[in-house]
Amino acid sequence: MSKPLLTADPHAGFLAHADEIRAAVDRVLAGGRYILGPEVETFEREFASYHGGGHAVGVANGTEALELALQAVGVKAGDAVVTVANSASATAAAIQQIGAQPVFVEIEADTMLMSPAALERVLAAQKGKVKAVVPVQLYGLPAAMPAILELARRHGAKVVEDCAQAHGATLDGRKAGTWGDAAAYSFYPTKNLGALGDGGAVFTRDAAVAEQLRLLRLYGWRQRYVSEIPGRNSRLDELQAAILRVKLKYLDAENATRRTLAERYLKILAGTPLQLPVIPPGTEPVWHQFAVRTPRRDALQAHLAAQEIHCGVLYPMPIHRQPAYAVPALSLPVTERACAEVLCLPVHPALATGDIDRVGEEILRWSRS
Ligand SMILES: *Cc1c(COP(=O)(O)O)cnc(C)c1O
Repeated sequence: MSKPLLTADPHAGFLAHADEIRAAVDRVLAGGRYILGPEVETFEREFASYHGGGHAVGVANGTEALELALQAVGVKAGDAVVTVANSASATAAAIQQIGAQPVFVEIEADTMLMSPAALERVLAAQKGKVKAVVPVQLYGLPAAMPAILELARRHGAKVVEDCAQAHGATLDGRKAGTWGDAAAYSFYPTKNLGALGDGGAVFTRDAAVAEQLRLLRLYGWRQRYVSEIPGRNSRLDELQAAILRVKLKYLDAENATRRTLAERYLKILAGTPLQLPVIPPGTEPVWHQFAVRTPRRDALQAHLAAQEIHCGVLYPMPIHRQPAYAVPALSLPVTERACAEVLCLPVHPALATGDIDRVGEEILRWSRS
């Protein structure tokens, strides 16, 4: 039997840079600063400059990055926040955790990203109650940001990008994360930029938003022991920041590997009954996932699993159908169909083109059976 292919491989991601990561960890251990010290500060500078300048604020995880970003741009309890329902439930959880109300909007059938036309209808129907829009840059593919920004501005809403799957993706030559008022990142180990534990960050080009974020993540303190605003504890720690500094150096190269693998899938799978990822003009995705669609999704997943090819389903149940966030009266047929049909084939930097060929051959075999 050939080796199992995984949907993501954080261990391989560690081994690829093991010596440098061990040296970084040793440096932190020996330095004696473990929380909000020089590694976090330096990582924040490096991550901001990866976006061409601006401000990055390290936080505890991607969900809290969304919560703090929404609060920092002015979202308050009772406000409506529009997002999509085919995301990680974390996206809705973040909105709900700050007392705001998630409002789910339909997606585009081809890209599975937020539909500007549907957003326009929701913004009109909500009559000024929407304080923020959260487009999810799903699978490493940025949504139609110019149209989404224009609609949000027109309705007085802020835009917070969920960039947890899109580190380094670009649209019209401009990075995801730089379009909205703020962008939330997760460094969960399986993400394109992954820590070896939890971590997150908010990027913003707005100095006032960055200042708010620094207060919010540390009890509202500007001065130690004096809470200026209600805040909390959501800190990135020094060990994870030091590890992320190593990983960030390789992000572009690893995204390029993902691109090579994805291009090979696109070539091999052309002409199969699968619906392949659609990449709008001007978009350079970073292939966090390679999401195909078929009405026979479960059968294909089982066929591949029997060959030790493990696929993910991101996501099997739309958020508006999950018990915690259920909106029984809401029907989002395009979203519901995407969740029923989507299958994410293995695509990560530890795979070789031969692995992609093996997946492709199995899919061709299955599609002929
Ligand atoms: C991973 C992820 C999150 C949550 O990040 P955590 O670090 O796990 O809290 C939010 N949104 C999306 C789209 C994600 O993929």
